[in-house]
Amino acid sequence: MLDDSPINLLSMDRKTMESFFLDMGEKRFRAKQLLQWIYQRNVVNVDEMTDLSKSLRKKLGLEACFTMPEIVSQQLSKDGTCKWLLKLRDGNCIETVYIPEKDRGTLCVSSQVGCGLNCTFCATARQGYNRNLDVDEIISQVWIANNALESIGVGGYFQDDDSTNQSSNSTFTVDQRRPVTNVVMMGMGEPLLNFDNVVASMNLMMDDFSFGLSKRRVTLSTAGVVPAISRLAETCPVSLAVSLHAPTDDLRNRLVPINKKYPIEQLLDACRQYVGEKNRQRITFEYVMLKGVNDSPAQALQLAKLLVDMPAKVNLIPFNPFDGVQFARSNSKTIDRFTETLLDQGVFTIKRRTRGDDIDAACGQLAGNFHDRTKRSIRMSQQRVSFS
Ligand code: SAH
Repeated sequence: MLDDSPINLLSMDRKTMESFFLDMGEKRFRAKQLLQWIYQRNVVNVDEMTDLSKSLRKKLGLEACFTMPEIVSQQLSKDGTCKWLLKLRDGNCIETVYIPEKDRGTLCVSSQVGCGLNCTFCATARQGYNRNLDVDEIISQVWIANNALESIGVGGYFQDDDSTNQSSNSTFTVDQRRPVTNVVMMGMGEPLLNFDNVVASMNLMMDDFSFGLSKRRVTLSTAGVVPAISRLAETCPVSLAVSLHAPTDDLRNRLVPINKKYPIEQLLDACRQYVGEKNRQRITFEYVMLKGVNDSPAQALQLAKLLVDMPAKVNLIPFNPFDGVQFARSNSKTIDRFTETLLDQGVFTIKRRTRGDDIDAACGQLAGNFHDRTKRSIRMSQQRVSFS
């Protein structure tokens, strides 16, 4: 970007925005005002920001902008799930999904354009990888979802009072019911490989002057980038989910190839350390149920053994098939038996309901539409991947 091109105010968390205003010769508190306008009142036009002086509005009009991805399409599933295809400034497209439930509205947010990890059962992996998302591209997904859902009258959940970071000096008085009450970094990409931008965005999600979500309501899901798990514990201890999917290294190496670099034992050590530090919450272990591959009672016992001393919750995800994939979903009896085996071993286990599959919005189905710089998508279409 040229030095004199306008700076995107959506790319700044509170600290960065405070420095921006101080550098301009303005007071620090301008950052709080700006954040409230943008994220609490959905206002992205400086002329409407009536508590800023005229001269500051003029300066911001010249030097700053509020650039967001453009909504290419919005699809509403029959179960209320909503999926957006968003076009970024370079023409690449990503997907974001909203999943309404009785007591919450969860937004599944993307962190990269595509994914470089190549998990063998994931549709995003098939599409290859282009680049990391910037802070503005990540936080805009939450802004766009709230704004779009409010304008179509979907959502409207009360934020409960579990937010420990509510600040009493916030002067903001508008009704804080927003459609998005929870965020899961479970869309396209591996969030821990885009660490700084993801952390800055999650800080914005949790900022009292922005969306004000508590850290319990922001979950980061990783395939197991071990060194970054420790960094996250120190810098931004949100709720953690780990895509485990297999109870042995041999099988996990084949399903989640990053396991060859960071095997299960190292991964679980990092998880134990994560809960041991500031974060007392259980870690969620995601386990996609693949017919005849990882769903036997013996594998359930192996999994229970792995998690014996871990504050864990296992989330069993029925596999969502897509074109050309060699895996099949375990049948419900098998999933029930797997669940019972884990429960008998004292492991807290839930089966995730598949949502939004009529609009390809379920786990692992997010594909976007982008230029694959890795050429993996071409290689994959030329060769049938076999798994045995
Ligand atoms: N890279 C991160 C974030 C993606 S989260 C991670 O791996 O955790 C997406 C979740 O959906 C992960 O648990 C992923 O393993 C799972 N998933 C991927 N493809 C799937 C599919 N086809 N069916 C069900 N779950 C899938």
